[in-house]
Parts: sequence; structure tokens; C-alpha cells
Amino acid sequence: MTMAGLNVAVRNVKMAHEIQQRHCKICGQLKARINLGQFPNKSSKRWVDETGKQWCGLLCPDCQRNRAKANMRILRNSPNGSSEV
Ligand SMILES: [Zn+2]
Repeated sequence: MTMAGLNVAVRNVKMAHEIQQRHCKICGQLKARINLGQFPNKSSKRWVDETGKQWCGLLCPDCQRNRAKANMRILRNSPNGSSEV
């Protein structure tokens, strides 16, 4: 992680409104979940872990990354890779 990235994470944690711990839906580990307020479009709240990585629903950032990687592999292997829903 770069120094700048770390500073951003620390600043984000300082402005956090709410800190809790949640069990990840996939790996089941208890992880920090910090509410940074809402997204600009107000559709959902923004949650990060203590290092500033973003939660995706009830998936911890690590599992989300693994899932993204798996999705990417599926997309690459499918005949029409562009999935616009
Ligand atoms: Zn997880």
C-alpha cells in the first residue's frame, strides 16, 4: 500500500459515523465494518474495513475481490463476454 492510500484510509476512518463488526457472508470471519456515510447517489451506505477497502453488501473486501476475480474468469471464458444487463 502506498503512503497516500494509507493516509486516505486513516482520514476516512476518522470521519466514520459508525463502526461495527460483521461476519462476512462468504468466509464467516468477523471483520470491521465502518460506515462512511452514503454514496453520492444516496442509494446505499458506504462501508469499508479498517484498511479502507470497500465492503460489497455482506461480502468482506477480500471475498469481494475473490468473487470479482472468479467473475472475470467466467466472463472471459463465455462466448459473448460483454455482459450488459
Ligand atoms: Zn469474507
